[in-house]
Amino acid sequence: MKELTHFINGQHVKGTSGRFAEVFNPATGEAIAKVPLASQEELNDAVAKAAEAQIGWGNTNPQRRARVMMKFGALINEHMDELAELVSLEHGKTLPDAKGDVQRGLEFVEVCMGAPAMLKGEFMDNGGPGIDLYSMRQPLGVVAGITPFNFPAMIPLWKMAGALACGNAMILKPSERVPSTALRLAELLIEAGLPEGVLQVVNGDKDIVDGIIDHEEIPAVAFVGSTPIAQYIYGRACSNGKRAQCFGGAKNHMIIMPDADIDKAADALVGAGFGAAGERCMAISVAVPVGQKTADALIEKLVPRIEALKVGPYTSGDDVDYGPVITQASKDRINGLIASGVEQGANLVVDGRNFELQGYENGFFVGPSMFDNVTPDMDIYKEEIFGPVLSQVRTETYDEALDLVMKNDYGNGTAIYTADGDTARDFAHRVNVGMVGINFPIPVPLSYFTFGGWKKSGFGDLNQYGPDAFRFYTKTKTVTARWFSGIKEGGEFNFKAMD
Ligand code: NAD
Repeated sequence: MKELTHFINGQHVKGTSGRFAEVFNPATGEAIAKVPLASQEELNDAVAKAAEAQIGWGNTNPQRRARVMMKFGALINEHMDELAELVSLEHGKTLPDAKGDVQRGLEFVEVCMGAPAMLKGEFMDNGGPGIDLYSMRQPLGVVAGITPFNFPAMIPLWKMAGALACGNAMILKPSERVPSTALRLAELLIEAGLPEGVLQVVNGDKDIVDGIIDHEEIPAVAFVGSTPIAQYIYGRACSNGKRAQCFGGAKNHMIIMPDADIDKAADALVGAGFGAAGERCMAISVAVPVGQKTADALIEKLVPRIEALKVGPYTSGDDVDYGPVITQASKDRINGLIASGVEQGANLVVDGRNFELQGYENGFFVGPSMFDNVTPDMDIYKEEIFGPVLSQVRTETYDEALDLVMKNDYGNGTAIYTADGDTARDFAHRVNVGMVGINFPIPVPLSYFTFGGWKKSGFGDLNQYGPDAFRFYTKTKTVTARWFSGIKEGGEFNFKAMD
């Protein structure tokens, strides 16, 4: 079995801890590689080398750092197919979806090509008599990025591009289930001109995450993953005096108003609910039609669309809508939640539990499932299923639908389908969710905005990417300067003793 490495000081370095995790091809269920799980000593070594490298990188002018981003962006484009294949192999998503994963990460690399403009400070001329004030943004030092399995390219890119463009070094700890894409991106960064040691990829599990959040030389931690871990890391990193931004799980609702175009809403729900096997933090997992007629019409449109979904390995090319889920444990958990929905009285109108694919019997595939008449007390409503399962909660009025979204613990994304601008505007204004779609199912903002959920979907006060990334990855220093009056006339030209 292939043995993966860490990436330290521009080199692939074998793990020395003796601990490994298996990396699977979720489509076949085969273990295809083992990834080393770093020890505290390996982490300390990576941080020490990163701290050394950061001094020069932090003093490199922003324009030169931006040029590395330009080259990096060009290399990502050049290697798009190869990167997408790595994503698909370890994650299982289809190749077009994997390209989207790389592309949405690349878009923030493109924003980071303009980092010098974002790093300009402020200046106040004559803030007091003869006094000027100016502020500058300086890098934090060695920062950490800890990322989830579901976007093996995009989220590491969101972390590393901002951190590096601001002059930091980064310890990147990718998900141990999908480590290869981050390792390849690290190689491309070296090719793009990043000095060795500025990006260190340290593979590992909970042990090394704890090592990172307790490490005295790491002043900031950027995390993305599930809510319990996000909340844990946020609490522990903050109590260690670190800056932390920790993004968590989601339960994203789409409200469908009686005046919505039901065909368009059904198409959107199928893509947003089942794309990437529902393993997106911005997936729509709850459809909330307003009025029984809307609910009935929606189910009528949804069921045939869901039953027609094609599930298979990424190697089947364009003939597949979504692939397997990430692990056997995840498959079992999803099937268990579906069973709980049936037990608790929801109406399972499409059952994907017994899905099998010839030749891929050991793959982690789950067929698409849809529940009607779900209520907020059921486990399938309360839990983030993170699988190809759509729930429909029926409501009678817009206010009831809005209230449901508002009362949910999560607040990552939400959407409304309607033909009425006033309703849409009211929804966008009132809803307590970080990213809102209006007739748009997965409202992941473009990279020059920012990305972040509210409530239990995000801990910390700055979002990912966009202008917030430049705030998160720098600290502000403000100088108040006064110059006492000097000699402006009557200079002496004699050669005098220095007394
Ligand atoms: P996860 O929380 O299991 O793992 C995320 C990272 O934390 C990994 O690097 C993992 O090694 C580490 N980790 C796991 N258990 C840990 C522990 N006990 N202590 C310390 N570190 C630990 O998440 P996942 O399953 O990889 O990813 C899916 C989750 O991520 C979903 O909940 C999804 O909604 C969420 N997500 C959120 C966003 C967002 O921006 N809000 C984006 C993508 C994914």
